[in-house]
Amino acid sequence: MDRRSFIKSAGVAVAAAAVPFQLKAGEIAAPAIMRDVRKSSQLQLSFFPYELKLRHAFNLAKYSRTTTPDVQVTLTWNGITGYGEASMPPYLGESVDSVTKFLSSLDLSQFTDPFRMEDILAYVDQKAPKNSAAKASVDIALHDLLGKVMGQPWYKIWGLSPEKTPNTSYTIGIDKPDMVRLKVKEAAPYKVLKVKMGLDQDRETIEVIRSMTNVPICVDVNQGWTDREHALRMIDWLAERNCLFVEQPMPKENIDDIAWLKSRSSLPIIADEAFQRIGDIPKLAEAYDGINIKLMKSTGLNEAYKMIVLGRALGMKIMIGCMTETSCAVSAAAQLAPLVDFADLDGNLLIANDRFSGMTIKDGKITLVDKPGIGITLLGKA
Ligand code: MG
Repeated sequence: MDRRSFIKSAGVAVAAAAVPFQLKAGEIAAPAIMRDVRKSSQLQLSFFPYELKLRHAFNLAKYSRTTTPDVQVTLTWNGITGYGEASMPPYLGESVDSVTKFLSSLDLSQFTDPFRMEDILAYVDQKAPKNSAAKASVDIALHDLLGKVMGQPWYKIWGLSPEKTPNTSYTIGIDKPDMVRLKVKEAAPYKVLKVKMGLDQDRETIEVIRSMTNVPICVDVNQGWTDREHALRMIDWLAERNCLFVEQPMPKENIDDIAWLKSRSSLPIIADEAFQRIGDIPKLAEAYDGINIKLMKSTGLNEAYKMIVLGRALGMKIMIGCMTETSCAVSAAAQLAPLVDFADLDGNLLIANDRFSGMTIKDGKITLVDKPGIGITLLGKA
């Protein structure tokens, strides 16, 4: 018996035993014998850590970093593979350890029909509280898998028109004027800039940008302003400089101050750190004009879609954002882009080691790919 036939016959026994498997760090291809397990009609989950390398140090009001921890996920059923991802910026409290521990606790082989998405994702959600990014990685992989089974991208499955996607903003972090100038030059193809604020040089950063371009600016304070009078003065000043909105101007706990600000602000106030799950949204409507939905907070596309419906019902503006992520999670989020007012989907552009191609930006606009699932291709395996 040659090796191939041996693996084929051995594969039957392995598939019957439904042995779950995991890839280790740096291991991309599964061993041949595992590929036969992947032809199983049971859902098979695998994952490995993948550190994202940032092209520039990422400076926010509260910290700076040059890498982002990430876990890459695959979900396979009947030989079809969906890709997912968990990205873990430090402030959300997840890590490679917590994500791998959570994913290891799941037994998805109990499911044989990937179309039972609500049941599968309810099982994942109920396994343990929190773990939003870990849950998102399964949700994204399941959407990719299901879209591939149906042969359609999710924006089509949801009935959305791809030409309705907004421009994405491109993020300029907090930095010295020379670096700000360099980043604004890099951002020339983009029609909207996003500026991180909340440190002493807030006005200087805007003035440097305005000396170079007049494109609209989204401002993200990341909870950095603590005095509401100062926040209101800054918002009025920004409104005169072609800014579109202000995201999370004050600490999420200061909900009364933010409501005070909203009633006086000349720009919309968007919530980001103030919420994670859909149940957090109704109480935000008094203090915020809109919500920034990110898959790593919402546990993925299924709840993100429901958040959009709820936010609209509450009269809120909708923004879709991301963490630093590969094109996997960014392209997944982009499937929802035709439904939103603002998009901040530049996470894949900020990293140097993307594993996928997918959603692209043309003339600043989110451009969806007519490919099944979340519309991505593993680089080097096109
Ligand atoms: Mg934000």
